[in-house]
Amino acid sequence: MNAFLSNLVKKGESSWKNATGSSRPKPLGIGIDLGTTYSCVAVWQNGLIEIITNDLGNRTTPSWVAFNETQRLIGEAAKNQAGMNTTNTIFDAKRLIGRKFNEPTVQDDMRHWPFKVIADKGNNPVIVVTHKDEEKKFSPEEISSMILVKMKEIAEIYLGKEVTDAVVTVPAYFNDAQRQATKDAGVIAGLNIQRIINEPTAAAIAYGLDKELTGYNVATRNILVFDLGGGTFDVSLVAVQKDAFEVKAVNGDTHLGGSDFDTRLVGHFAAEFERKHKKKLDGNPRALGRLRAACERAKMNLSMNKEARIEIECLFDGTDFCSTITRSRFERLNLDLFEKCLPPVEKCLEDAKLGKTDVHDIVLVGGSTRIPKVQQLLQDYFKGKELCKSINPDEAVAYGAACHAASLAGIENFKDIALVDVTPLSLGIRIVDLSVKVVPRNTTIPTKMFEIIVTSEDNQGSIVFPVFEGERYLAKDNNFLGEFCLYNIPPGPKGSVKFDVCFEIDADSILTVSAKQTGTNNENQITITQHNGRLTKEEIDIMVKEAEMFKAHDEEFKRAVKAKIVLENYIDAVKSTVLRYRERISGRDKRKVEDAIVRINGWLVWNDLCGDSFMYEQKKNELRNVINDVLRDMRNNIGVTNSIYEID
Ligand code: ADP
Ligand code: MG
Repeated sequence: MNAFLSNLVKKGESSWKNATGSSRPKPLGIGIDLGTTYSCVAVWQNGLIEIITNDLGNRTTPSWVAFNETQRLIGEAAKNQAGMNTTNTIFDAKRLIGRKFNEPTVQDDMRHWPFKVIADKGNNPVIVVTHKDEEKKFSPEEISSMILVKMKEIAEIYLGKEVTDAVVTVPAYFNDAQRQATKDAGVIAGLNIQRIINEPTAAAIAYGLDKELTGYNVATRNILVFDLGGGTFDVSLVAVQKDAFEVKAVNGDTHLGGSDFDTRLVGHFAAEFERKHKKKLDGNPRALGRLRAACERAKMNLSMNKEARIEIECLFDGTDFCSTITRSRFERLNLDLFEKCLPPVEKCLEDAKLGKTDVHDIVLVGGSTRIPKVQQLLQDYFKGKELCKSINPDEAVAYGAACHAASLAGIENFKDIALVDVTPLSLGIRIVDLSVKVVPRNTTIPTKMFEIIVTSEDNQGSIVFPVFEGERYLAKDNNFLGEFCLYNIPPGPKGSVKFDVCFEIDADSILTVSAKQTGTNNENQITITQHNGRLTKEEIDIMVKEAEMFKAHDEEFKRAVKAKIVLENYIDAVKSTVLRYRERISGRDKRKVEDAIVRINGWLVWNDLCGDSFMYEQKKNELRNVINDVLRDMRNNIGVTNSIYEID
């Protein structure tokens, strides 16, 4: 689950010593935004960060790769022939990278792809295509490497020299496997990936340096990065203080973006085609592919103009198709999708513990934020606050990556950049059945947090420390990460032996949990890396969503646990009261109380954590009536009239 991979650029790392001890600058790398649908490359040159255009003069390049009888195509060339070669045209490789074949998200995505994906022996997804009349298999890393090669070549043509190093961006929620696989793609592409950095952080760097943040080096500036791309929506809260960029919280929707808007347009025009020409386009991938390409162009047009026209020759069965669409019709077709962008913004602010007015800047990232209606909804949400559009939304991420590359090369003005990230889920320890949070969700890493824990049974010889991540109240509903044990605990009543538990997460997001019996040298620990059973972004999302759904249930459970503890303490208090007045309470009354306690203890055994606070309160009332009757009798016997002996 390394959704919080930290990227710390330490000061003074700007140059390195070679074998002879003299210092020379590190090579200057390019910055690559390896997007799900489009990629972009930038470089620092002549004191400026420049976005590099591809051979067609475009500043972004489709992340598409295609294979046909004669050649392999990358970028526009691949995307443009998609309609004629659907099964051998690959896109969305980023959705597969670093994932296992049987992950639900992969299975779900596969249903929508025209190309074939199978599992290899290790349960990794493999894309199967026919190339030069032969079946060929490619890993997602290989497909991504082809896009990286294309971006590298674009830079090399522009710079007129070989490029060896690059900073590549990934979504903030990418786990360790996904980051590692992206690095592997770099290796396959013959690129040395100097750093993998988070996309929102890159955008914030681009924005921060653009605005010359040196002016406010004391106060923190909260930047909301709203990234609506081709197929994904990511919202992040990045706090910027001087040159330090800290991702405070992330949220979003892994299936929301420009291609959904294209799909709505395709549906609209396909229906119109059917109405006009009495011909159905369904089941004709070539026609649908060409219509989709025209719809994407029309959509882009509508960001600038109030009306767009589409014209496709021989769309189907020799029939041409021409039509127009207005911006307001396009907005009506997509309004529900646009509105889906706002709840994640709210959640992100909630997690960052910020109100709308605490946000200093709202930064637009991703090609789909060029849509005026999206901008308007976001601006209205922030009560009319101006949105930052000084950075080109499709270029900000690559721009920031190039700033980072410049920082690594020790270029003046860039070298002190420091990036910090957060934990995406709470981390805690199981005590009895509960998950006690030690590190709350969205805590900045590196971090070190402590908790004091006591024995839960009398004369407990050993204690286990099971470590969990998740937001639920009961440990069993969270994700188990590992456990360790402490032995040789001195005997004593429950609660009498204390342990100092420490959760430490380092800059590489490696968690070490240690426990020490207070005041002794009796200690043990466990180190949990991203590899042992930690969660994917989808699992995190599901857990967070479930936690919200189950909030009411969990609240009741919390009340029930409290009520249970109250009942148990009450039983102890009743027992000691009977003991204290044993001389004055009759044998019959003592048995009455004992019977009641046995009954309730029996009930407790059968109804352990029944999750209903009312039941515990009822049992307590039952016992209270018995003991108070007994105490009243005792008072009457000794002639005391007030109720000082009653216990509540
Ligand atoms: P990624 O999700 O790969 O990071 P981008 O941020 O480059 O991709 O966004 C790509 C999406 O933005 C595509 O769906 C594209 O159609 C859309 N897009 C690009 N320019 C515009 C525009 N002017 N108006 C509306 N949508 C646009
Ligand atoms: Mg993007």
